[in-house]
Amino acid sequence: MKSRWSDKEARGLEGLDILVHTSRLIGLDTNLVVWGGGNSSVKVRGMDHTGRPIRILYVKGSGSDMRTIAHKQFTPLRLDDLLPLMKREAMTDDEMVAYQSKCVLEPGSPKPSIETLLHAFLPPTHIYHTHADAICALTDTPSRRRIIEEVYGKNVAVIPYFRPGFLLSQKTGEAYAKNPGLRAIILDKHGLITWGASAKEAYRETIRMITQAERFLARHQRRPRVRPAALSASREARRLVATAIAPTLRGEVGRGKRMVLLYDDAPELLQFVNHPKAKSISQIGPFTPDHLMHTKPWPLFLDVKSSGRPDAEAIIAALPGAVEGYRKRYAAYFERYKTPGVTMLDPNPRVVLIPGVGLFATGKDRRAGRIVRDIYLHTVGVIQAGAAVSSYVSLSPRELCDFEYWPMENFKLTLLPPEKEFSRRIALVTGAAGGIGKAIAERLAAEGAMVILTDIDLEKTRKAADAINQKAGEANAAAVKMDVTSESSVRKAFEEAVRAYGGLDILVSNAGIAKSSPVDRLSLSDWDRSIAVNATGHFLVCREAVRIFKAQGLGGNIVVVATKNVLAPGKDFGAYSASKAAQVQLSRILAIEGAEDKIRVNMVNPDGVFQESGLWSKEIRKERARAHGIPIGKLEDFYAQRNLLKLKIYPGDVAEAVLFFASDRSSKTTGAILPVDGGVREAFPR
Ligand code: ZN
Repeated sequence: MKSRWSDKEARGLEGLDILVHTSRLIGLDTNLVVWGGGNSSVKVRGMDHTGRPIRILYVKGSGSDMRTIAHKQFTPLRLDDLLPLMKREAMTDDEMVAYQSKCVLEPGSPKPSIETLLHAFLPPTHIYHTHADAICALTDTPSRRRIIEEVYGKNVAVIPYFRPGFLLSQKTGEAYAKNPGLRAIILDKHGLITWGASAKEAYRETIRMITQAERFLARHQRRPRVRPAALSASREARRLVATAIAPTLRGEVGRGKRMVLLYDDAPELLQFVNHPKAKSISQIGPFTPDHLMHTKPWPLFLDVKSSGRPDAEAIIAALPGAVEGYRKRYAAYFERYKTPGVTMLDPNPRVVLIPGVGLFATGKDRRAGRIVRDIYLHTVGVIQAGAAVSSYVSLSPRELCDFEYWPMENFKLTLLPPEKEFSRRIALVTGAAGGIGKAIAERLAAEGAMVILTDIDLEKTRKAADAINQKAGEANAAAVKMDVTSESSVRKAFEEAVRAYGGLDILVSNAGIAKSSPVDRLSLSDWDRSIAVNATGHFLVCREAVRIFKAQGLGGNIVVVATKNVLAPGKDFGAYSASKAAQVQLSRILAIEGAEDKIRVNMVNPDGVFQESGLWSKEIRKERARAHGIPIGKLEDFYAQRNLLKLKIYPGDVAEAVLFFASDRSSKTTGAILPVDGGVREAFPR
């Protein structure tokens, strides 16, 4: 393992500063810790609030991530108040947490790590605790003691598996006290503890320990055996299968709470899922317990008998039974090992492995899916490395359940921000590069949805999606090129959407064009173009959405941005009004047809929304001004003056109405029209 240490970068840093710096170095290496795993500490001399000199232990706060950790995420504690606990006989988690909270020096500090006492009981100044892959590949084997001795000799202690807390800390402290010549301590099926008088020394020891383990593992590496037929599918064919099966899978794992799917077919994953023993070896368990919180005890391994390439139809047929089987197995595990009074967590799999296809990770959003995927990528490496030196083993089912339902670990989940109205929802918006479509996409994303913005202008659409992602800080918006008039373009765009998030919950059919001309002068090409975008385009996107909705079986929601013209047509607007009327009529049919599958279809009728509008081109403004017999500069005022409330209508006003229909707040409404026009008497829906 490569050291990331630089004397230049570390120069002048000490105490908490060097702790933050080195913790980040460790966090950068996903072979050491991933997504919130591991912790670190430093012991310094300082003063309490009265000015009395004391010894302070700075330890990582619970739930923070080492890669991005900041000063305020470390908690200062009175070390001399913690040390007497070493002599206690026993302590429950609650007693320990209560005691620790009384030792915290700074009010408002984060709750200190559950492994705080472990850091306190080890005398060295700088201490790092990692869940290193290479170390766990050694410990997660039946012959761990022999192997560890072979790699490190006798000056590394191995502590048997205990759930973190008082007992593990005490055992660790005792091991050190018994043998101060120890180089490091390895926690069975958990990770590594290293230390030093300086941060550099402690960090270097971490790297040295891991490098030794990696060298040993490399000597034992075996050539992987794979099912050759399953590997023969091309990348393109594999991804088509993944896209075809994703909505069904999303529906099956989202029966309780909706999930986002993240698909991955990295070579190491394919090699793993295609291994003849993958089915049994994948069911053993995580390599370090805190991964459980993201991945659950085991993945769902979908074993579909096929003679060659992955077969989408066979997989789709097998999915419902397989996911149900997983839930039953999980419920049985919970019933058998639970502590009384605890309620069962979501029994659906977080990791789904399919030979010939790869991995699907599930999560409440992209980030959660990525955490699961990243952890599993490391799990695959550790399982294979462990199996190569001996055989891979994990915690017992009782230990797994004990950890998965441990209140101390579940506490971290309460630190997450509350879910928003559109969390876990996937929405696709057409015509989203600007104007109304962009405003709708922004609002949906702000309320927690994952949004696919589509338009014919990919560059502009990307900019809109990037702006959303910058605000959200996550890849929750994606830009996809789509020409709604092209069957193949529409199909491809929906495939991309499914590939990005696993399915669809909301379609906002917003793309549209306007042509203004009296009928006797209307060209056939303008007529055809209006029908193609406003009517046929609407048909094509709705057809794809309904197919996905039905495959998921989770209902569905279509919101149509129509126009006031459907109910109150204006002169010279024949092509526009007729094509939009076709759009609305088809939407009503869809409301009737979709009801059985809980697919709702509702319409919003805006009028005269000019801001950032692609529909209101300079040309169309000129033509509409002429049709109304007014100068072009007065057009916006004209539209405002003709409504009852005398108001201008903005994209955000339309977005508000669309969000209402897209949300569960309107769950009992379908086939309805909501005008957003400031009140136009002729356009009242009736
Ligand atoms: Zn740990």
